[in-house]
Amino acid sequence: MPSDLSTSLQYLKGVGPKLAETFAKRGLFTFEDALYYLPRTFEDRRQPTPIIRLVPGLKAVVRGKVVDSKWTGGRGRRQFEATLKDASGKPLTLHWFHTVPSLKDEFVLGREVTVYGEIHFFRGRLQMNHPDFAGGEVISPEFSGVLPVYTSPENLSQKVVRKVVRGAVESSMPLIQEPLPGAMLERLGLCDLKTALKMHHFPETVPDAPTLRRALDRLIFEEFFVFQLGLLLNRERRALAPVMQDSSGVNELVKSLPFALTGDQERAISEITRDLGLPLPMTRLLQGDVGSGKTVVSLAAAVMAARSGYQTALMVPTEVLAIQHFQKARELLKELFPVLLVHGAEKMVSEKVASGESKLVIGTHALFQEAVRFHRLGLVIVDEQHRFGVRQRRELIDKAAGVPHLLMMTATPIPRTLSLTLYGDLDLTIIREKPKARLPIRTRMIFERDRETLYGAIRKRIEAREQIYVVYPLVEESEKLDLKSAIGMFEELKKVFQGASVELVHGRMASEEKERVLDGFRRGAVSVLVATTVVEVGIDVPNATLMVIEHAERLGLSQLHQLRGRVGRGTKASECFLVSKVPTQRLRILVQSDDGFVIAEEDLKLRGAGEFLGTRQSGGTGFRLGDIVRDGRLLNTAHEEASRLLVEDPGLEKPEHKILKKMVETRWKEKQDFVTGG
Ligand code: ADP
Ligand code: MG
Repeated sequence: MPSDLSTSLQYLKGVGPKLAETFAKRGLFTFEDALYYLPRTFEDRRQPTPIIRLVPGLKAVVRGKVVDSKWTGGRGRRQFEATLKDASGKPLTLHWFHTVPSLKDEFVLGREVTVYGEIHFFRGRLQMNHPDFAGGEVISPEFSGVLPVYTSPENLSQKVVRKVVRGAVESSMPLIQEPLPGAMLERLGLCDLKTALKMHHFPETVPDAPTLRRALDRLIFEEFFVFQLGLLLNRERRALAPVMQDSSGVNELVKSLPFALTGDQERAISEITRDLGLPLPMTRLLQGDVGSGKTVVSLAAAVMAARSGYQTALMVPTEVLAIQHFQKARELLKELFPVLLVHGAEKMVSEKVASGESKLVIGTHALFQEAVRFHRLGLVIVDEQHRFGVRQRRELIDKAAGVPHLLMMTATPIPRTLSLTLYGDLDLTIIREKPKARLPIRTRMIFERDRETLYGAIRKRIEAREQIYVVYPLVEESEKLDLKSAIGMFEELKKVFQGASVELVHGRMASEEKERVLDGFRRGAVSVLVATTVVEVGIDVPNATLMVIEHAERLGLSQLHQLRGRVGRGTKASECFLVSKVPTQRLRILVQSDDGFVIAEEDLKLRGAGEFLGTRQSGGTGFRLGDIVRDGRLLNTAHEEASRLLVEDPGLEKPEHKILKKMVETRWKEKQDFVTGG
């Protein structure tokens, strides 16, 4: 028996360091890991099948007498063959292609043996290749009954895997204590832990699907529940965030705006300012489609922080966007306080941040730099949050002396199940209403051969003194090549539209140069802006009315939608042209819909949840059994139950929660890396 469940599998009898290493590669390090290493299916070996009833493809147990056994195969390739007969009188050939000397001693003429394997039809005979076998008298539990079938690490045989897992589970059983309160199990209709594990590892019968599902649900629920408790407990243990009480500046800002806020914007501001006034750290996601006016909402929050004596850091994914936010904020907040843009580690800049003179500091990951030290950081705003990794956000949060409030903004809807796993409890504010006077954007597909039509459309816009984006996607693997073709396109457009101002902007350019070009575009001095996807997020030029996306088939739906959102921001009718070689389903969706929520959902469907969630958002969600998409309902229940339990017993101090608390603490340590500040 292991001393506790975190003991390395290496100490299981019959498993040495080498075998343990093989299991470790599959994520099986400890006895506990083995407990939750569930079989993928079961084999029913309880009843032998008479040979006469065997058919090819069937996996069966056969019991019979050895009537013949011999070495076969010539020229150095020794093979072994034995023939069994049972009461039905029909023969079954057993065949080994490469062989073990002991076979001859096992399959002695006249002996009664039991074998298991898949039946083939070979040269007019029924045959079983490399069967699993046991002597007639003693049939070990590793051979008979209903056997679990596990995914094999490396190419270990099922026999070995089964033996190790079985051994580990069996010897762990005395250590297993039920962590979940009995009343909860009863209320949710879940079975206890030992029953769930036994049903998987030592089934007495082949469990039917609903029964198995219930046992699995129990284990997945436990996994989610323990994790949610960890998140919530951790959150409660955090230090308090600053209480901000001076909202006078918010009204001043709102009055000074050149437009009236939409109802949703007003609601968003009031939810956020309410949060800022509470000592509980805010973790709020502001979700609103492209162009729904999230920026001004976040500025209102920054104003509240500033008036209350705290600094705000606004983090954005690209420098271009940083510059734009900076200009916008400076313009809107000029009456209120100075705003600072962090470029590099310029000394003067750092001093202004450190002294607290700068109330709102805007930048990209440059904000993470060691040299940047805040005086009193009270609010962190992350724009286009989906573009940042969990770790990056955490680094910024750690810059605050205490715990800052956190406001994230996104145009890409995050499924609730995902936010629950990443943040535990994320408050959500959704802006659905778009600012008035926004005209729909007409979207169409354009194929290579229609380039003249495209140029005609561009020319018309130039003549009307409107502005045009031509986007060239850079794909990481072929960045250099793509950049070359973006430059090529730029040269061509310059030639085609002689007399008009055509400029190029891309991520590799020096930032002063970038700024110069973008500034020209913003002022209307540049008509056609050829750009890489650096303009994807946030750029706001109301006079731009045509978006051309070259190689549109290379981009994801949400990305295309974001790009398209760069136009249609003013009062003139805008268009978006998706240039591609072939029409694709993705592009069609875009032509049909302008609703970011619909598009995100379609994107999820097309790309599959795994990819949508896994790679972009979290790098895998790190659950052993649970799948946050498939088991979303269980995750929600787990979250509710965890909140409920903590109301009843805030620190999990009650004696009946002792086992649970220990489990939460152990597992939390392993998971921590993976979760954001929330
Ligand atoms: P996003 O939500 O995509 O970040 P922005 O905050 O960039 O959107 O807003 C897009 C444009 O709409 C900006 O020019 C902004 O000034 C303007 N805007 C924001 N709110 C309103 C409103 N209530 N009425 C009119 N225009 C607005
Ligand atoms: Mg924005």
